[in-house]
Amino acid sequence: MKDFITIALPKGRMSEESLSHFYQCGITKIKEFNHDRKLIFDDIEKKIKFLLVRSKDVGTYIEQGAADIGVIGFDLLKEHEFNVYISTKLPFGKCRLSVAWPQNHDEPNKRHIKVATKYPRITSKYFYEQGINIELINLYGSIEIAPLTGISHAIVDLVSTGETLKANNLIEKNRILNSEARLIFFMPLMFSKGSKLQIF
Ligand code: AMP
Repeated sequence: MKDFITIALPKGRMSEESLSHFYQCGITKIKEFNHDRKLIFDDIEKKIKFLLVRSKDVGTYIEQGAADIGVIGFDLLKEHEFNVYISTKLPFGKCRLSVAWPQNHDEPNKRHIKVATKYPRITSKYFYEQGINIELINLYGSIEIAPLTGISHAIVDLVSTGETLKANNLIEKNRILNSEARLIFFMPLMFSKGSKLQIF
């Protein structure tokens, strides 16, 4: 039987917030990850192994059973639909996924609206439900500059304080979903006789 619990955390701000939360709850004795390119940290006393991975990879590590517990934004859980057990809301990582347009934008041709995002699944579903056809422009970061460079009419991206939208002359028009950090768990499933689902 393995005696360490493995926890996958998203690298960056959310790993610090997660660690600080776990520390305050008495789950770990580690106060901070020192940034010397190490991606695995052991808490020998509490028998926890922390893996620092790309945020959307947290779901894959849990799904594959390489980690037992993970912290991930609800936005990514909605976009990627990992096969994991989704648990408690955590008190950080609060933001919203919204549609934003340039200030004073011209009304685009309704049949050809280009929307830049790194959330293609949520974005397609949202506009489909609004009865609006869009062309998706898939980007991986700095989504806010897409309308400024003319590659899209609008964007769908995370908004926290709204400062980034403001700095790039964009206006938040519609909120698609609210998000926050969530705890997720590995879900080893077994269908026993009679197809009874068991979680062990
Ligand atoms: P803000 O200027 O505070 O509204 O933050 C917006 C920028 O931060 C955008 O580029 C977002 O992609 C990013 N962002 C905001 N909240 C989060 C979050 N909870 N997780 C990851 N990225 C975020």
